[in-house]
Amino acid sequence: MESRNWIGGEWNKPKAGTLEIRNPSDLAETVGYVHLSGKGELLEAVDAARSAQPKWAAMTGAARGECLYRMAGLLEAHGAELANLASSEMGKPIAEMRGEVARGVQLLRYYAAEGVRANGQMIPSAFVNVKQYSVRVPLGVAAVITPWNFPVAIPIWKIAPALICGNTVVWKPAENGCLTAVKLAEIFAEASLPAGTLNLIIGKGSVVGEALLEEAKIDAISFTGSSATGLRVAAASAARNLKYQTEMGGKNAAVVLRDADLDAAVAAVVSGAFRSAGQKCTATSRVIVEGAVYDEFASKTTEAIAKLRMANAKHEGAYLGPVASLEQFKTVNEYVVTALAEARTVAVGSSADGEGEGYYISPLLVEGVGADHRLVQEEVFGPLAVMLPAANIDEAIGLVNRTVFGLSASVFTRDLNNAFRFLDEAEAGMVRVNQETGGVEYQAPFGGMKDSSSHSREQGQSALDFYTHLKTCAIQYR
Ligand code: NAD
Repeated sequence: MESRNWIGGEWNKPKAGTLEIRNPSDLAETVGYVHLSGKGELLEAVDAARSAQPKWAAMTGAARGECLYRMAGLLEAHGAELANLASSEMGKPIAEMRGEVARGVQLLRYYAAEGVRANGQMIPSAFVNVKQYSVRVPLGVAAVITPWNFPVAIPIWKIAPALICGNTVVWKPAENGCLTAVKLAEIFAEASLPAGTLNLIIGKGSVVGEALLEEAKIDAISFTGSSATGLRVAAASAARNLKYQTEMGGKNAAVVLRDADLDAAVAAVVSGAFRSAGQKCTATSRVIVEGAVYDEFASKTTEAIAKLRMANAKHEGAYLGPVASLEQFKTVNEYVVTALAEARTVAVGSSADGEGEGYYISPLLVEGVGADHRLVQEEVFGPLAVMLPAANIDEAIGLVNRTVFGLSASVFTRDLNNAFRFLDEAEAGMVRVNQETGGVEYQAPFGGMKDSSSHSREQGQSALDFYTHLKTCAIQYR
């Protein structure tokens, strides 16, 4: 497969360079070629979106909703092909990838229905014969910058609410999620969207991403990715007074208290830490366990990790596949080396024997480092988690909050008082009881506190706040 740009309803091959994409599960397989764009193509995409926007916004919400329903139907019909491609491109196990595609369909249908839902509020006036109300109006052209780790769901949870609110979109996916992005755009191209409503631009963050931030005539940017890039997006947007949202990294904690259902906690912690090879912003990377159950929890978790199957992402039984890219392999391995040198190993999972050469990193759980150690403070974004003991819930919550991140946090307990205390005091945008740190539902707000986010929320009804201005209208009628 070869990548293409989709600009103003036309497909073009950009010419600013080409990357070969190898399957991270089996490096002998070339999945395709990504052709990179320069600034000129990006500006063309923005112009196309700008020209299409007034007509798209003038359509009724119901008509825009019909487009989104068609996109959902097409995605459902072609979901298997898309999941296969994404699994080959970035190594997410096929079963998880199918789930991600199904989530994309749900998101499209959820936002399609917004086209006919109430928009705004009647607000009583203090004056006679005055009616006043608020109404949501589109921002204009929304730029959507996405990472590779959810190459289908994250773009859709940005694109769908942007479109239903009457914005047009320029989408720049991550370099190693581009083939999936092109396939998704090809699927959407069959949905009869007006030309220029959704535009796909393939290119490097340092080239087309920077041009989007610095000079493109856009009205808003929704970004998901690393904290370093997110802070750059925020600074550039603020300098131009663009509306922006940034969803960034995490260092999510799961707390296991002495009264927890330990078997359920083990399953949730293992899933949170090692599914998707730990490459979720909401992955569990700190496991804080009350002293009384620390050893028992460690031994049950060790047994569970020994049973995990790491394999080619296309194998139905793969619990985890490789990490996504050479860059990921190098970064995560550097943390593994630190962990093996500076921490004690609690458990290490099996290797991917017989799978050929790929970017496989065995699941690893370690202990014995202090709360300020880099393994406890920095986002690893790989299958590596660290255990920390806590004397009681006070100490556990203190550890949860002792980080610059604040995306997701869980507690495992059967005590309602502990559960509510945790929900109140954990500094994270998503807090959960007896559930893993990953896996939020699409109809609920998604986002973090502290350095994990620019503090707005995605998904659910919150996305509508980001993709619109709220206009206050008042009428004196007699
Ligand atoms: P990244 O920051 O390297 O890249 C994200 C996107 O930004 C890519 O499309 C990239 O091309 C683009 N980009 C890079 N430099 C840019 C620049 N100077 N200007 C504009 N755009 C630029 O992140 P990644 O490696 O793709 O993704 C992994 C990170 O994403 C992890 O830190 C993870 O926690 C985070 N993430 C967060 C969430 C969330 O919702 N909080 C969800 C998924 C992933």
